[in-house]
Amino acid sequence: MKLDTSPIAAIATAPGRGGIGVVRASGKSLLELIDALFPGVTLAPRHATYIPFKAAGGDVIDEGLALYFKGPHSYTGEDVLELQGHGGPVVLQMLLARVLEAGAPLGLRLAEPGEFTRRAFLNDKLDLAQAEAVADLIDASTEAAAKSASQSLSGAFSQVVHTLVDQTINLRMLVEATLDFPEEEIDFLEKSNARGQLAGIIEALENVFRQAAQGALLREGLNVVLVGQPNVGKSSLLNALAGSDVAIVTPIAGTTRDKVTETIQIEGIPLNIIDTAGIRTDEGIDAVERIGIERTWGEVGKADVILHLLDASLGPSAEDERIVAAFPQGVPVVRIWNKIDLSGHKPSIDVSADATHLYLSANEKLGIELLRTELLRIAGWQQTGESLYLARERHLIALRAAREHLEFARQHAMQDDQSLDLFAEELRLAQDQLSSITGQFTPDDLLGVIFSRFCIGK
Ligand code: GDP
Ligand code: ZN
Repeated sequence: MKLDTSPIAAIATAPGRGGIGVVRASGKSLLELIDALFPGVTLAPRHATYIPFKAAGGDVIDEGLALYFKGPHSYTGEDVLELQGHGGPVVLQMLLARVLEAGAPLGLRLAEPGEFTRRAFLNDKLDLAQAEAVADLIDASTEAAAKSASQSLSGAFSQVVHTLVDQTINLRMLVEATLDFPEEEIDFLEKSNARGQLAGIIEALENVFRQAAQGALLREGLNVVLVGQPNVGKSSLLNALAGSDVAIVTPIAGTTRDKVTETIQIEGIPLNIIDTAGIRTDEGIDAVERIGIERTWGEVGKADVILHLLDASLGPSAEDERIVAAFPQGVPVVRIWNKIDLSGHKPSIDVSADATHLYLSANEKLGIELLRTELLRIAGWQQTGESLYLARERHLIALRAAREHLEFARQHAMQDDQSLDLFAEELRLAQDQLSSITGQFTPDDLLGVIFSRFCIGK
């Protein structure tokens, strides 16, 4: 691909209003642009200069920081200029228009979607998997997704892929060297332990797969079980989380006799919220309610997260002590103090040594957001056991194809008349597939597809 080094500019910050907003420009040499915008001023690379941003006529559009990054020490690898002003849509548009106007004689134009990152890729600042991770990090709607995107952005995913590529190349070189000396072919596979090497590569590839498959856990979601005594507001909380009347709410204790499940999405993470029959040990309970309580404990046993509801206006009771004591070990529990509109507590979350206490009102929709955030945190927390790569479908397809070629290679190696040229060929195909992940062999049209999904300014 031919490198386009003509200067480009765009608003780099999100649309809407914010404390600051950034107009970014990148190109082969931006010194002329800087001179046009700030006549007589020298911007020291990587130093913030507080400066008025002026229109051509001299009127001040805004005041802010000008930052000059001299290529190749910049995001794109080219010269980059960042103007950090106030984050209003109108003022940023005016600033962008001014930059486009000042840069027009230099051929400066508005950047295409993803063009900054595309240039970073083409200038070897990032590989393709990392460039994709930029978009994934920006688009991440959950902590878990952000974390795995940033893992990929840091190059951890690329690194494991590179290692696979290197191992494949090494093995391939061995095989190809042997091809030149046909008389030695016969016991080549034994001598070089080529089969063992191949098995090692396949195993490593399986591991990468497994870490990608961990993302599926995120997709399947968590089982969140609501437990507590009758009338503490479990069904009301399910409704508040789901935003509709899915469970029957009544002031008569023991109304929820069977479980009600509602799958909700909190910022992309599916949560199966399970409402249960209230737990109590009164004499007054009938057989049906008793079965309901048994089922409740069945649900608790399958919970990924337990939400233990209590009535904040009544405080804890001996019954609640019994409930807590019966919770399974190792499952995160959030103690939810509901009805704070009656108790006078403020919506809040308190992580103390014994438990996480969360104060809310299901009816008044106070503190619901705190709970959603806490559920997200717990969902992310469950992922931290193993580093997770935010693999895209494209990566999974390439990994799968690479594995197929390695399996074919293994089959060729197993045959009596060991066809080393086919072995070598399958290794080459596997290598190409793996390399496509990091972008060493990626056709232009695929690059176009990948970067066009970015927003302008990225
Ligand atoms: P469950 O038996 O635990 O499922 O409790 P419900 O959700 O059926 O609620 C029992 C009663 O408590 C109903 O009358 C609800 O309106 C009431 N309730 C639920 N949440 C709140 C709240 O935040 N504040 C107040 N004042 N009442 C609530
Ligand atoms: Zn209920």
